[in-house]
Amino acid sequence: MRVVLLGPPGAGKGTQAQRVADALSVSRVSSGDLFREHRERGTELGRLVGTYMDRGALVPDEVTIDMVMDWIDDPDRRRGFVLDGFPRTLAQAKALDGRLGRQEPIDTVLYMDVSVEELTRRLTGRLLCRECQTPYHESFSPPSREGECDHCGGDLYRRTDDMPEAVGRRIEVYKDQTEPLVAYYRARGNLVEIDGQGSMEQVADALIHALRQGGAAPTRQS
Ligand SMILES: [Zn+2]
Repeated sequence: MRVVLLGPPGAGKGTQAQRVADALSVSRVSSGDLFREHRERGTELGRLVGTYMDRGALVPDEVTIDMVMDWIDDPDRRRGFVLDGFPRTLAQAKALDGRLGRQEPIDTVLYMDVSVEELTRRLTGRLLCRECQTPYHESFSPPSREGECDHCGGDLYRRTDDMPEAVGRRIEVYKDQTEPLVAYYRARGNLVEIDGQGSMEQVADALIHALRQGGAAPTRQS
C-alpha cells in the first residue's frame, strides 16, 4: 500500500501519518525528516540540501525527489509506505509519478480537508514556553494557569509565524499549492477526502477506515 497524506499546517499531520503507517505496518517519512537524516549522515544529497537550507533558500524539487526515491527504493519499503506532506506542489506530484512509473504508482492519496476558519483558529492559538519550549494551544491544550507553563512556570508566547497576519499568509500559500494538487489526484481517481476537522482520534479513525475500504469509500461528512 503506497499512500500519500495531504493536509494543512497545524492539523497534526505528522501524528496522523504515523497512525496510518502503524495501521498498515509500514514506515512513514516527511521531506523534512529526509533533509535532516541526509545532513546528519553527511551524504552527497545532504550536503547539497545544506547549501540551500543554510542560505534560507528552497530545496529544488529534483533534489527532494531524489531523496524520496532513495528512501522508497529501500527494501524495507516493499510492503508500502506513507509519505507525510509530500508532494506539496503539483510539480512535485508529477515528478513523483514520473519517477514511480506505471508499475508502482501511489495507490491512495488521503486528503485531510480543513476549512480556512478552523485552520486560522488552530494556528493562531499556538503558544510556546519561552524557557522549556513546551507547546500549548489556547483551545486544545491550554496551560492550567493562563500565560504560564505547567512544567517550569515560564512565560508563554506566540511565535511570529503564528501571529494572525503570518497565519493568513501561510494558509493562502497552502491553499494555492494544495488546490491544484488535490484536483490532479482527484482526476487520477485515487483521492480520498477526509473531514479533517474532528478530534485527533476521529480523524485518525476516518483515515484508517478509508484505507481499509480500499481507499474508495466516501468518508467525508457534510
Ligand atoms: Zn516551560
